Amino acid sequence: MNTPLQEKRSRISCEIDFERDGKQVGFLRLPHSVHRSAYGWIPIPIACIRNGDGPRVLLIAGNHGDEYEGQIAHAKLLRALQPEDVSGTIIFLTSANFPAANAGTRTSPLDDGNLNRSFPGDPDGTPTQQIAWYIEKVLLPTCDYVLDLHSGGSSLMYVPSANCQRQSDPARMKRSLELLHAFGAPVTYITDAAQGGDQTLTAAARRAGPIHMGTELAGGGTVTLPALRTAEQGVRRVLKLVGALRTSVPAQPAPETRLLQVRGPTYFVYAPDSGFFEPLVELGDEVVAGQQAGLIHFHDTPWREPSVAVFPRAGTVICKRMPCRTERGDCLFHLGAPYEP
Ligand SMILES: [Zn+2]
Repeated sequence: MNTPLQEKRSRISCEIDFERDGKQVGFLRLPHSVHRSAYGWIPIPIACIRNGDGPRVLLIAGNHGDEYEGQIAHAKLLRALQPEDVSGTIIFLTSANFPAANAGTRTSPLDDGNLNRSFPGDPDGTPTQQIAWYIEKVLLPTCDYVLDLHSGGSSLMYVPSANCQRQSDPARMKRSLELLHAFGAPVTYITDAAQGGDQTLTAAARRAGPIHMGTELAGGGTVTLPALRTAEQGVRRVLKLVGALRTSVPAQPAPETRLLQVRGPTYFVYAPDSGFFEPLVELGDEVVAGQQAGLIHFHDTPWREPSVAVFPRAGTVICKRMPCRTERGDCLFHLGAPYEP
């Protein structure tokens, strides 16, 4: 008889005990039997700092492997903190889709899996699906808060931002906004629905219980210093706000953040053709509806006039495509507009 999916257990084993006080580091072991390693496992780094009772916070980075600011900020914080700095439990899942992080790619080279489109996952599925299942079914239900640090990755660059999804429960919405103000990114935006619908970690957190916030720190397949400093200080401030870090742990005061919203497809501009992308605006620019956003030049027929992409609505440019070579359907820009509760 087949076991119902909800009752299935993860095949991933964890080397550390989240209920034990102290600082522990180790690996999630994801069994992976392949040609070069018959009885091997994929080593997904995990760490836990626990000091008695208190909030339990899950810090995630490397959900996409080519988003580095969060992964570096995690590692620095993990090395800096000692158990006496903590009140409760902080779990570090620093390169959540480790095969992707190891390859420096958004998706996993093992199964082409995009972790943030794989929830709730499958305990018997591909490596990426198994990681998603472990996060949603094993880690998230035990946590009070989850911080998922993304950036634009190889194809996008953001104004360093933090975000959450609009929530119907006023108390949860209020708490998420408190976290976002404490994080103190230059821009904070509220989405109606995450890109990726119910397959994202945002959706997994909503199903599993913890209060969620995310970031889009910068990107472009590199690390920019202002975004990295925002990540380092922002995570400290959020951990202090929720009571997981002692007040003695240093953190700079939160800068003012600009509160925006992203509601639906008119906030996004897509390439109308394939070719070379010439951006006509820059990050942070204010634009009006109908304004030209970029040109797509035809590299195969350079005598043709370029195709024009326009902004469907007014707003602030918070995200921009990085590679010049572009295919029809690629996202060129996305906007934010003033937040309306
Ligand atoms: Zn991402």
